[in-house]
Amino acid sequence: MLAELALQELRASLRGQLILPKDAEYDAARRIHNAMIDRRPALIVRCSGVADVVAAINFARRHEMVVAIRGAGHNVAGTSLCDGGLVIDLSRMKSVRVDHARGTARVEAGATWAEFNHELQVFGLAATGGFVGATGVSGLTLGGGLGWLVRKHGLSLDNLLSLDMVTAEGRVVTASASENVDLFWGVRGGGGNFGVATSFEFRVHPAGTVLAGMVLHPLSRSASVLRFWREYEGTAPEELTNGALLFHAPAELALPDVLHREGVVGLGGVYCGSVDVGGKVLRPLREFGPPAADIFQPMPYSAAQVMADFLWPAGSYNYWKSSYLTELSNAAIDTIVAHYAEAPSLQTIVVLEHNGDGAMSRVAEDATAFGHRRWPYNLLVTSVWRNAADAEANIAWTRRFWNAMNPFLADAVYVNYLGDEGEERVRAAYGAKYERLVALKNKYDPTNFFRMNQNIRPSVS
Ligand SMILES: Cc1cc2nc3c(=O)[nH]c(=O)nc-3n(C[C@H](O)[C@H](O)[C@H](O)COP(=O)(O)OP(=O)(O)OC[C@H]3O[C@@H](n4cnc5c(N)ncnc54)[C@H](O)[C@@H]3O)c2cc1C
Repeated sequence: MLAELALQELRASLRGQLILPKDAEYDAARRIHNAMIDRRPALIVRCSGVADVVAAINFARRHEMVVAIRGAGHNVAGTSLCDGGLVIDLSRMKSVRVDHARGTARVEAGATWAEFNHELQVFGLAATGGFVGATGVSGLTLGGGLGWLVRKHGLSLDNLLSLDMVTAEGRVVTASASENVDLFWGVRGGGGNFGVATSFEFRVHPAGTVLAGMVLHPLSRSASVLRFWREYEGTAPEELTNGALLFHAPAELALPDVLHREGVVGLGGVYCGSVDVGGKVLRPLREFGPPAADIFQPMPYSAAQVMADFLWPAGSYNYWKSSYLTELSNAAIDTIVAHYAEAPSLQTIVVLEHNGDGAMSRVAEDATAFGHRRWPYNLLVTSVWRNAADAEANIAWTRRFWNAMNPFLADAVYVNYLGDEGEERVRAAYGAKYERLVALKNKYDPTNFFRMNQNIRPSVS
């Protein structure tokens, strides 16, 4: 038990809030995106700025407490919370400063992509963030950063110019191409293993109005739609980032009956360039079938940033499996289609991303710690359901599906899509770079103070 005096000292050292289990706000403060995660930290430090982060780290180190770092709390693995221990909660640190003349912007670590791009839209600019606006800038960038501009402008971390970080010793450092260069390599992919990032400076891009949306076909056409998409996306220019989804639309969406009856195979994307040229590029996609519904339209980038958010509502139960595919063969497509037809939950979504043949593949493999840049397809089975009692059926189905996909899976995974899957899968996220990350962990966090993450275990402790 922590002495009352120690807690008083901690509280007095903060500009932000100290939340304890007895406080009325405690349950709300320990709630994150994935309802599967039900952890009870001893202390939640809701930071107001860098000084609070330093105070929280120093306190946790002195009292030998486990530490978790919370950006937006969106990660499925739930590592932004710990049982017992201290949560460094950055979710109230959301300021954004845009330097539109230089084409750069600085954002604090608690902002989401929706919030960041909301501010950038004022200047007709956008940052390359997630496919979903509710994801945190922090966790997403430190692990990679796949989103609607990835084929044109690369990963979020490819656009990172510098970040401020507090280390396990409570030191405030900047990492960039000219300062703490080894750390800058590691934080671009190595997740929360090296310290608490407090703010990020990004290169941002003109993207005022984009052509964005989706064509929707009945689920019974999945096999032919996915075969068409495989051919189409292979010819699409880098201005178009697009993907395929199998899902069931919420009843309140005004869509043709057949889509509500059967479910949907959707081909969605964002064209960031001239809307007229985008119209021509998208014509084959919009004409194939034809689709039962076509909701592509010009919109501000900030609206495109959040257009898929409704598919993954906060507070649902999530269990995910993901890997890159060696190929999207007919057999792989047929396996996906057959298993999705048996999904126990109508909230479950299967996503096929096509990212790895644009700007991200032109960055040298060893330039950053990010694991895999060149696999063309990334498959995600995102099992999502509403009632706790349905966990077993959904998890069992996801595992059956995943076993059936085994012949088509690369031994390579995107670290940010991992659940709590053990060291072997973390190694699969980094491949040959894992040992270099261990060496960096030995230097910056030899005691594994930051271990609530996809952990790179130091070899010295
Ligand atoms: C519905 C959904 C959609 C998603 N869509 C995308 C997508 O389109 N593209 C994509 O690339 N990823 C996507 N992801 C994955 C996403 O990148 C990760 O979940 C990411 O961790 C979210 O960031 P966060 O700040 O909310 O993380 P949190 O859950 O807050 O934190 C997760 C971990 O990240 C680390 N971390 C977070 N903040 C910091 C910090 N400031 N300093 C140091 N370490 C930190 C910590 O280790 C922490 O345990 C999605 C996830 C979900 C659930």
